Amino acid sequence: MNDKPIPVTSPLLPPLTEFIPYLEQIWNSRFLTNGGDMHQELEQALCKHLGVKHIALFANGTLALVTALQALRITGEVITSPYSFVATAHSLLWNGIKPVFVDIDPTTLNLDPEKIEAAITPQTTAIMPVHCYGNPCDTAAIERIADTYNLKVIYDAAHAFGVQDEGGSVLRHGDLSVLSFHATKVFNTFEGGAIICPDEKTYRRIGHLKNFGFVNETTVVAPGINGKMNEVSAAFGLLQLRYIDQALTRRRQIDLLYRQHLSGIPGLHCLPPRDVPARANCAYFPVLVEPNFPIGRDDLYQLMRRHGIHVRRYFYPLISDFPMYRGLPSAAPANLPVARSIADKVLCLPIFPDLDDAAVVNVCAVIEGACGA
Ligand SMILES: *Cc1c(COP(=O)(O)O)cnc(C)c1O
Repeated sequence: MNDKPIPVTSPLLPPLTEFIPYLEQIWNSRFLTNGGDMHQELEQALCKHLGVKHIALFANGTLALVTALQALRITGEVITSPYSFVATAHSLLWNGIKPVFVDIDPTTLNLDPEKIEAAITPQTTAIMPVHCYGNPCDTAAIERIADTYNLKVIYDAAHAFGVQDEGGSVLRHGDLSVLSFHATKVFNTFEGGAIICPDEKTYRRIGHLKNFGFVNETTVVAPGINGKMNEVSAAFGLLQLRYIDQALTRRRQIDLLYRQHLSGIPGLHCLPPRDVPARANCAYFPVLVEPNFPIGRDDLYQLMRRHGIHVRRYFYPLISDFPMYRGLPSAAPANLPVARSIADKVLCLPIFPDLDDAAVVNVCAVIEGACGA
């Protein structure tokens, strides 16, 4: 038994004293939101850090997803993954768009490109894939399909802060990518999010859409939302950026430690590691509890909770099982066998920069104990 419960995640929190000067600057400026100095600085710092052209900051990732769809004037049907956080599909409903669920690849747990084409109809206007757990989608295959059928691609990159592929940041792919800076994510601004966009014109349009549609003091060009990030959140992002590299290094160490301790356990499957560890962000540590594991996934979930280890079943239930989606033809279980099977087996283990080796070993010992029982 642990004295203190171990959460599945815990925010990266730099020393409080280092935040005070930022707050003093905000107090002195009396500028609390609406694109102040902190907001401008964080956009620039993130562009540099992530190696992308333009970043528009948001109050949260969900508003960024909703706005990304509006920025590209997406309508009709959008192909997306049922194996994600519910906000992915909610952003479509908020725009009156019909989600079309396509099954996932059993290895990457991302949209299976081979199944996308069959789901395309004359109403399809876009694909919204998810870099699930920060593992990159098959961006080349998705781009080929999008080009062939003239579809837009908006990546839900909520998990993909700092993730790279052979060519650089994964955030460069598609027409737009959307990040979340929620407290539970790799990089956080308490609540926050961003749209990554390749060109200045789209960046400006997004700027209007996140500010009620204002282009100047008296002109409103669209029914825009209030999606702006405030100065305190932006300042926190700036401070945190100074610690993000060491946080990612620690996450990779924990990932490796789990793999070393869990690799020999029959019936417990870790997702394959990235070829180049430095390109991964190790945002999550999902394991699959297979039928030959001595106890069921939900029994292991309960057992670990009793030991004070707050593992989570991300992503269970599937989005397509929630009441507002389950009536859709594409939500039919026969259409999504892989996603369903993974949702019934997955367990996300604790991973966050402050987690020490002893805690990781303890988590693994509880899992091993379930085998001996
Ligand atoms: C966290 C998350 C979101 C929503 O982001 P918020 O900042 O919490 O609004 C969207 N999609 C995925 C895949 C997420 O994990």
